Amino acid sequence: MFKDHNFANQRALIRVDFNVPIKNGVITDDNRITAALPTIKKILADGGSIVLMSHWGRPLKDIEKKPNLTLADFSLKPVVAHLSKLLGIEVQWADDCLGQDAMDKAKALKPGEVLLLENLRYYKQEEKGDVAFAEQLSKLGDIYVNDAFGTAHRAHASTAVIAQFFPGNKKMFGLLMEGEVKAAEEVMHNNKKPFTAIIGGAKVSDKILIIENLLEKATDIIIGGGMAYTFFKAEGGHIGNSLCEDDRLDMAIELLKKAADKGVCIHLPADSIIADKFAADANCSSALSNEVPAGWMGLDIGTMAINQFKKIICESKTILWNGPMGVFEMEKFQHGTKAIADAVVEATKNGAFSLVGGGDSVAAVNKFGLADKVSYVSTGGGAMLEYFEGKVLPGIAAITG
Ligand code: AMP
Repeated sequence: MFKDHNFANQRALIRVDFNVPIKNGVITDDNRITAALPTIKKILADGGSIVLMSHWGRPLKDIEKKPNLTLADFSLKPVVAHLSKLLGIEVQWADDCLGQDAMDKAKALKPGEVLLLENLRYYKQEEKGDVAFAEQLSKLGDIYVNDAFGTAHRAHASTAVIAQFFPGNKKMFGLLMEGEVKAAEEVMHNNKKPFTAIIGGAKVSDKILIIENLLEKATDIIIGGGMAYTFFKAEGGHIGNSLCEDDRLDMAIELLKKAADKGVCIHLPADSIIADKFAADANCSSALSNEVPAGWMGLDIGTMAINQFKKIICESKTILWNGPMGVFEMEKFQHGTKAIADAVVEATKNGAFSLVGGGDSVAAVNKFGLADKVSYVSTGGGAMLEYFEGKVLPGIAAITG
């Protein structure tokens, strides 16, 4: 829909996610800005103008905790120069997202011009999803484009509530958002079988809802990372000092039982790389994951587990990956995550659709330089996680109805 729309002489109000790291006025990682460029460029190329709105940080909450901070510490203004350079035009600035000045500047925009508004979260109404605030914002554009997948799980004024003030043909996803939704739908709703979900990371409690939802969809679920040891302990194994959530042991057994009832295969890592302390210079050895000696902890999956998981991944037609297989931030414990990344790349080469989404597995594929060798890497951590949990995301529903 976005691709087909001609924006000539229209003023597009785009909700972007420019919540980028800024240190001393300098943007240290502009991925979120560059991700929005295709949408911005298409509108400008059509002969439209653009009003950009975004949040940055949590100004009101942080100022309450640290009174030495002021709103100026949360300004989006450093983005103006950076975006101007990226677009090769002079981006205009309004130091309030509402009010006469913003409205005058928006109305004066000529085709090909861009105006960036100050941080939406200077107003508490943004996060509260205030309807009157959303209506005021809506007056800044003729057409509403949501390209902020990273905040699609929030029912905020600018991400969801605002859409009601535009008719059906005047609200749409931007290209980034469209890509995210399409990839997520491909995996969760149009998947080809076998469908393998690889779930890793530290805590099983963070991933319960995802695993439960995947039990309805996946053929195989690989569980790695720290969360695997809660399952081993629940089954009576010895896990030494490995990460464990003792209050989740019953739930782990319950999940394994549910999977068996539904015919979904859950694969736990047969062996682990173990360490005598949680440190980059720890002494290492290997052990069966359910026979970790006292005083040692599992910090990565072992060789048997890698081979076990590789085989399953390479036979899959759809792959969803969320969470690393070990403490990949430390060189000694990155091998399992790298091997799984390589297997996902291999399966993708052989025609599988692979989506890496939600947090640290994204950091891992970026670290290994493999992001462009999988089908899709999501930019939306929390939003993608909630999508995997089966929740309806307000930012999506507001557009699709
Ligand atoms: P999450 O945010 O839940 O996906 O967890 C990611 C974090 O889990 C990363 O920082 C990893 O270092 C950590 N992690 C992965 N495997 C282990 C493990 N076996 N023991 C402790 N932490 C782990």
